Amino acid sequence: MMWVLVVFIVAGATLVAGATISGTRPDFAALAEKHEQQTVNDRRWLHENPELSNRETQTQAYLRRTLEKIPGITFIEGDWGTGLVAELQGGLPGPRIAWRADIDGLPITEDPDLPFRSTKKDTLNGGREVGVMHACGHDLHMSITLGAIRCLAAVRGQMPGTLMIIFQPAEETGDGAHDMLAAGLFDGNRKPRCVLAFHDHPTIAYGQVGSCTGWSTANVDGFRLTVKGRGGHGAYPHRSIDPVTLAAKMVLAFNDIVAREIDVNHHAVISVGFIEGGAKNNVIPSEVKLSATVRTHDEETRQVVKAKIERTVRSLAESVGAPEPELEYHFGTPAGYNNPELVDQVREVFSRVLGPENDITYLPGMGGEDFARYGQVVPGFQFRLGVAPPGQQNTMSLHSSTFNADERAVGLGMRLVAEVLWDQLNR
Ligand SMILES: [Zn+2]
Ligand SMILES: [Zn+2]
Repeated sequence: MMWVLVVFIVAGATLVAGATISGTRPDFAALAEKHEQQTVNDRRWLHENPELSNRETQTQAYLRRTLEKIPGITFIEGDWGTGLVAELQGGLPGPRIAWRADIDGLPITEDPDLPFRSTKKDTLNGGREVGVMHACGHDLHMSITLGAIRCLAAVRGQMPGTLMIIFQPAEETGDGAHDMLAAGLFDGNRKPRCVLAFHDHPTIAYGQVGSCTGWSTANVDGFRLTVKGRGGHGAYPHRSIDPVTLAAKMVLAFNDIVAREIDVNHHAVISVGFIEGGAKNNVIPSEVKLSATVRTHDEETRQVVKAKIERTVRSLAESVGAPEPELEYHFGTPAGYNNPELVDQVREVFSRVLGPENDITYLPGMGGEDFARYGQVVPGFQFRLGVAPPGQQNTMSLHSSTFNADERAVGLGMRLVAEVLWDQLNR
């Protein structure tokens, strides 16, 4: 007994001297091992029962009844739609830290031959039946969060501060975070010091974790454009104003905006993903419709690109005597910004837990993530958890019917998230 006590004190003293940790760090590896199977079971149930954005009622019920069984959990009731907000209060004074997990699936029919493969179906607006799948790995986000909470709940007596846990619906449609914040998620004394999250990453191997400092995801904007002309016989184009040719010029001019008018240090992408016009090869139509996605990082470039698109569309139409096109431009999910100080703090944990060689830096992407909206209110950091089975980093893709994460990421992820949150709560 005496021997055990001495070892404990020595180990505790070493930790205090060696890091910013103010108390003894719990053995999260052992805690994660203890709760891993239960958390893998959560993952399998959630994977088997995906639901589309803003329809996550069964998911919400599963999360609530699972959280109710974890000691120390309370709920913050609010107008969260199909979301859920919980709290774990520590036994010691400390900061308020938020953690977010998104919960929705995608309209994709799952391929992999898993015993817990999803066979769920739903209908899209318009009535078309589709398969539903957690093809973005949000089942991992939810289950790993549950696992990390189990680990932290077991040591909540020594835990400083309060952990706010946000299960957010409708990430895939880009409105979940917006709606929860609009419903008062971070209002008044609920406002956390910072917010953290991860996304599973198909090109990072299991056992590794990726971080990006500063801009990490893009502003997801776009436009719908109706190019107007004057229809006529395809044999006599000089008697019409051809909106097909005009639309083609515009598509190429959009590429030139990015290539010739934007500083290469300020990222921008314009991709026309839809174009439609006409009904027959020898009939010049009266209009052509197209739509595009526009991605940028900083706010100035975001506004500059919009202005250049408006100018290009107007002036090209004018140059051929066409009527003014109809341009509907919209600003969507904002760009994600990983707070540099927070990134540095969390990466200390990654290096300690996984080894510095598994703490990878990745470059900013042009994808979108509505986690960015929380980061507009408080400092935020979303890291990437490697889920590619070894050797498959170049073949897996999110939003694919064959996406199949390495399930060992559950045990490792829950430990890592618990360690990261413990570290933040102790700062
Ligand atoms: Zn997704
Ligand atoms: Zn996702």
